[in-house]
Amino acid sequence: MIEIDGAVGEGGGAVLRTALALGAVSQRPIHIYNIRAKRARPGLQPQHLRGVEGLAKLTNARVEGAKLNSTELTFEPTIIEGGRYHIDIGTAGSTTLVLQILMPAAAFARKPVEVEIRGGTDNPMAPPIDFLKNVTLPTLRKMGYRGEVECVQRGHYPKGGGVVRAHIEPIEKLHALTLTEPGKVVRISGLAHCVRLPDHIATRMAHVASMALVKAGYSKVHIKTESYPPTQDPHLGPGAGITLWAETEGGAILGSSSLGKLGKPAEQVGREAAESLIAQLKTGCAVDRHLTDQLVPYLALAEGVSEITSAELTSHTLTNIALVEQILGVKFEVQGQQGQPGRIRVKGLGLHPERPVKA
Ligand code: ATP
Repeated sequence: MIEIDGAVGEGGGAVLRTALALGAVSQRPIHIYNIRAKRARPGLQPQHLRGVEGLAKLTNARVEGAKLNSTELTFEPTIIEGGRYHIDIGTAGSTTLVLQILMPAAAFARKPVEVEIRGGTDNPMAPPIDFLKNVTLPTLRKMGYRGEVECVQRGHYPKGGGVVRAHIEPIEKLHALTLTEPGKVVRISGLAHCVRLPDHIATRMAHVASMALVKAGYSKVHIKTESYPPTQDPHLGPGAGITLWAETEGGAILGSSSLGKLGKPAEQVGREAAESLIAQLKTGCAVDRHLTDQLVPYLALAEGVSEITSAELTSHTLTNIALVEQILGVKFEVQGQQGQPGRIRVKGLGLHPERPVKA
């Protein structure tokens, strides 16, 4: 049994997700305590609990302590079966964070995994669905990951009501990833959306973001808008947001996003996303600050040496690295300081479904 202190580093939901996701994929039992100890409401909240339950179903795990507000959990995975799953978070909790806990094990299941999740699609402090679709998954596919995600309906805080569907095919193994030299930006794409709000909200976010990117010297910028006439808007809303992604000559995809909220002008939302992307592109690094922490588990599972340059080594990334080292026994080389651009290198395990790592 691997003992994990949920209060380490960031001390939030990511510690739980990374620990269980890695335990599940490598078939190692995990005991985690102090779950989300550094959050205002510690313990398992609906989004975390539904993620744990979903992962338990996917991996036929024996679980103790999977209750709302629980701060301690034992998770013993067995066979990663695959098949169809439905998860209703029941709140506006993030569907993409539920997918984050399921995605590593899903790739090593015996059968394809189809999962439909109801909850939030565009939440603060979580990957927007458009980021998962256009930044995280395309990068993982470079490593041989076979997964697609579809946003059926958007959900925002506090009402939720969003629906996402993911389809993940089994793979033999993940390949190492080298993303160190991004090269020139080939194009910048984006999607600005608003639901249960007038369509000019999406247009204004897209316009301001485009102008800022063009002013910064990027010529190929194409930001789409998504909005709904009041009589044909199926969402619970209201909500709005923008996600941007830059593709580079060297095959890198860097993303950024910003969410709307009551009283925050659409122009500010568009500007924030553009400024964040511009600042990250200026570092000359190939991976954005959020994708970096999301890639860490996959780099450790892949076969061979992976190396990435990161626009910012966040506390999430450093926490994930420490956890992955503890659970999988790999060693990361990290150059750079927290809060600064950096470089990460790791020789991965080369995990293969037929030869799970023994605890
Ligand atoms: P808690 O519920 O304890 O606050 P959490 O479950 O919200 O924690 P975090 O520990 O905050 O989880 O982790 C959030 C995850 O969402 C990280 O993987 C981070 O990279 C990702 N993330 C947060 N904001 C964005 C964003 N704007 N774009 C892409 N990814 C994001």
